Amino acid sequence: MARRQESARGSMPLTELLSTKESRAMASFGVRDLDTMMRFAPRRYVSPAPLRDLHEVTEGEEVSAIVSVVSVRERTMRNRPGSVLEAVVSDGVEDLTLAFFLPKPHMVQWHRSRLPVGAHIVVHGTVGRNTYRDELQIAHPVYEPFEDTDDGRLFAQRPRPVYPLRRNIAQSTMRSATEKGLEFAEHLSCPVPAEVLAARGLLPLPQAVRRVHTPLTLEEARAGMAHLVFEEAFVLQAIFAQRRAQDERTPAPALRADGPLQGAFDARLPFELTAGQREIGDQLIRRIGRDHPTSALLQGDVGSGKTVIALRAMLRAVDSGHQAALLAPTEVLAEQHHRTITGLLGDLARGGQLDGHPDATRVRLLTGSQRTAGRRQTLLDVTSGEAGIVIGTHALLTESVEFASLALVVIDEQHRFGVDHRRRLRTKGALGRSPHVVVMTATPIPRTAALATVGDLDVLTLRESPGRRAGVASFVVHEESPRWEHRMWERAGEEIAAGRQVFVVCARIDEDAEDVPAPAVLDEHGQAQPPTLAPARGVTETAQRLAERPELAGARIGVLHSRLATEEKQDVMDRLVRGELDLLVSTTVIEVGVDVPNASVMIVLDAERFGVSQLHQLRGRVGRGEHAGIAFLDTRAKGGSEHSRHLQAIAGAADGFALAELDLERRGAGDLVGEEQSGLQRTLKHLDVIRDAAVIEQARQDAFAVIATDPDLAAHPALGGAIADRLRDADPDVERS
Ligand code: ADP
Ligand code: MG
Repeated sequence: MARRQESARGSMPLTELLSTKESRAMASFGVRDLDTMMRFAPRRYVSPAPLRDLHEVTEGEEVSAIVSVVSVRERTMRNRPGSVLEAVVSDGVEDLTLAFFLPKPHMVQWHRSRLPVGAHIVVHGTVGRNTYRDELQIAHPVYEPFEDTDDGRLFAQRPRPVYPLRRNIAQSTMRSATEKGLEFAEHLSCPVPAEVLAARGLLPLPQAVRRVHTPLTLEEARAGMAHLVFEEAFVLQAIFAQRRAQDERTPAPALRADGPLQGAFDARLPFELTAGQREIGDQLIRRIGRDHPTSALLQGDVGSGKTVIALRAMLRAVDSGHQAALLAPTEVLAEQHHRTITGLLGDLARGGQLDGHPDATRVRLLTGSQRTAGRRQTLLDVTSGEAGIVIGTHALLTESVEFASLALVVIDEQHRFGVDHRRRLRTKGALGRSPHVVVMTATPIPRTAALATVGDLDVLTLRESPGRRAGVASFVVHEESPRWEHRMWERAGEEIAAGRQVFVVCARIDEDAEDVPAPAVLDEHGQAQPPTLAPARGVTETAQRLAERPELAGARIGVLHSRLATEEKQDVMDRLVRGELDLLVSTTVIEVGVDVPNASVMIVLDAERFGVSQLHQLRGRVGRGEHAGIAFLDTRAKGGSEHSRHLQAIAGAADGFALAELDLERRGAGDLVGEEQSGLQRTLKHLDVIRDAAVIEQARQDAFAVIATDPDLAAHPALGGAIADRLRDADPDVERS
């Protein structure tokens, strides 16, 4: 990943401020300038051991004590080069020896200079025993001068910051680097205006960072962090406010025609829209009727009926004399959307054909791997405007596809699209007008999380799903129990015998390729522990193994993954839909949207390798028709392990909303909407969308107010710089493309 060299704020480079060792330590966390370092907060704080009198300390105990230096002597070590420095200290009643084993003369000098006889010091360390003299001593204590005042006592007992560490980096290096930075705290760039800080009762930035890095009490540290949390929320909201303000200055085609296609479509819908669909659909239609571009997030669980709503909006675009595009994350899904939509539209999609409806339009599929002849006709239809609806993949964004008049873009599955992909679409409209953009996601997120992460979108939420879906029951299967594993395949075999179909999903294609890492598990200190799991299974090998399992004898097994040629993929999907395959082993190419109503079992192998949203999408693939679905989340993690508990929680969550909450509680908003999420969401540093819900609301009000009066931030250069830095950090894609 390209790393930024210079901050937009013109913040001081750390190489000019710190020792080489310190700036390297910071650089290993991507921290390269003063402003970033001052916001690189401790992971936690430790308080020193309580102050003790020397007569009460015992061996093995960690203690702090206030003492004065009685005598210091040095002797050479017998077996090693260097010397031992011993300082006898006293608290007025009892003596204790502090011992330092020092290989180099300059180290001896350094300690001697800090331990003159009579000096008051506060010393921290673990009490040990000198085996020669059979006395208590502290080897290599930490100590510092002590001032005998109330403040001095508070200072001696202050909490110490604990920074994240990497291999070969000492905590002391991180602390000394940060403390050097604090000397320049007055030069930091503060994006939050002083009035806002005052109104919200927050400390000015220089004080805030001093309290974060060198607090006297934990309360002080919290007050300092409150500034950083607010600042992060404020900068994000300012980005969203600017985007919305920019949208308000941008013209867009107003899609207002209540025309023939939409009416004809509504009349032939084989079902009644639910109340939620009608309400959300009306809201969407109001938004695309404005002459500024809408950016909306249409969220609802798998099968909640989003596609129908989006299709009605697309028809409105066509009725208004423009075009609509629908983008899917993969070709398989684009093809499926094309089938579904032409199916739903019937003769309304057969424009220019003899059996077409008089008001019909054309629905065109445009994918990267299309043959040239068909492709030329498609492109012609897109350019001429004959195709009212164009369905494709990301390729539609990057290729030089010219639309006659693109007015609405619907993106299926938001987590595959970065914020900036979305922005880039803006340039695809005709006559300098931006198309409206609607992003559909089946991984709904709660309100404040949405504000914090996609606050530039209008969020439209479908809460209920239309009935008749049989639903899915989920189970975790631990392979450490062969009985369970046998039962899982037996169950799959039973469904196949009853004429239904089974999906088996693997984390990778081949087992001799690089393994897919399982996510690290956090221990009780919040440290990432590397997982200890067998390598993930591959599609190819799994298909071979399953062919030999007695539970699946006679099953017709197919494989599907991204390395197959497009025709092969299509052939496999067709055979599956026609019922000529009983069991499909695949990668997550089938993750989203694939509709095989006859499929009733979903088995995800090595399920811990998949994100929450992926697993939810996957299990939504079954139980779509009249038969109840079963999802097995199969894992080789041990029962009761962190991975296992996580999978159990997913299995127990009823719908996408429950899962989103679960995911939030478990991880914070770090990577809220799935592992593939790119953009601003992934880089939340201090903000916790549950804990900080109120802060997010406040920061939003304040940031929108600032942008309303100063949209280009001419009077707020520090905010402008912070925004530029944030965007550069958030979307490395922008630099790559
Ligand atoms: P989503 O895109 O949210 O996953 P779809 O729009 O694809 O959901 O709808 C899922 C299925 O439910 C489709 O087969 C669709 O035709 C059907 N459906 C949509 N709305 C309704 C409704 N109001 N009543 C009955 N079936 C519906
Ligand atoms: Mg759908």
